[in-house]
Amino acid sequence: MNDHPITHPPRIIDGKAFGADIRARVAEQTARLRADHGIIPGLAVVLVGEDPASRLYVRNKGIQTREAGMNSYEYRLPADTTQTDLMALIERLNADSAVHGILIQLPLPPHMEAGAVINAIDPAKDVDGFHILNAGLLGTGQKAMVPCTPLGCLMMLRDHLGDLSGLHAVVVGRSNIVGKPMALLLLGDNCTVTVAHSRSRDLAGICRRADILIAAVGRPRMIPGDWIKPGATVIDVGINRIEQDGRSRVVGDVDFDSAARVAGAITPVPGGVGPMTIACLLANTLTACCRANGLAVPEGLTA
Ligand code: NDP
Repeated sequence: MNDHPITHPPRIIDGKAFGADIRARVAEQTARLRADHGIIPGLAVVLVGEDPASRLYVRNKGIQTREAGMNSYEYRLPADTTQTDLMALIERLNADSAVHGILIQLPLPPHMEAGAVINAIDPAKDVDGFHILNAGLLGTGQKAMVPCTPLGCLMMLRDHLGDLSGLHAVVVGRSNIVGKPMALLLLGDNCTVTVAHSRSRDLAGICRRADILIAAVGRPRMIPGDWIKPGATVIDVGINRIEQDGRSRVVGDVDFDSAARVAGAITPVPGGVGPMTIACLLANTLTACCRANGLAVPEGLTA
């Protein structure tokens, strides 16, 4: 429980609606590319193995890619595929001018070295933004392919708050795919950034100083309302499956009910960051296609 009074009803940041809006903008720009230049953006998604969650993600990505008017190329390889064979496929996709984005669905089977596989992708086609070159470009404030989840969070923050300059952002979590790129993007937008992690001392006190709080930990409801500064904007990246009242449900890293009494705005789980991630994958594919063809990247779809 928290002791803060209810100041006002918080705004729920609706990632489902905003994600649909981003996808509509991507579809509109894709239609324009086709009409004006005869170019169709293409996204190749590679799945190795039979992991049910990964199969579902790949299926959804294919559907949404086609709905945006793009070409979707799906490769489903058996779990015992060798890394050499996967690398050979990546080389073919790198050389294929109809393919503008390449996504290797993670996790890969244990016999593969994910870092080496990701770094075999042409950085210009690395729509997940995980290639070491893109990580370095982002880290040095240069134009990069940006990881989709933090890009989606940044878009929601800009949409809700406008100029982020001077705000204190706290990012809880320092993974290479969420926490670190998130912190770098917020720095790029002139926030004062604190990155917290499992060894941070006084996590509650750190969170209470945040104008913007990003939770990317993977621990169900670990951040209660009394860790949140009244009026703060809270972005909950966590996706945690729990059993409650005899049924399985998905919750975030933030305790939504108590946090919603204090925050100025908050993303729900589900329906917050999740839908933005796939929208940003499509936005990154469009960006990669425009850059590959020497065309301007449409406003508002990149960092
Ligand atoms: P990782 O497990 O790679 O990283 C988790 C981070 O949380 C680590 O930096 C870890 O610190 C930190 N952490 C763990 N326990 C604590 C603690 N008690 N206090 C403070 N920090 C802690 O996870 P990801 O970054 O990949 O994902 C984070 C969450 O976001 C997960 O729930 C995941 O499912 C979700 N996610 C959601 C996406 C979406 O589309 N909405 C996309 C990607 C992820 P340390 O480094 O010290 O170990």
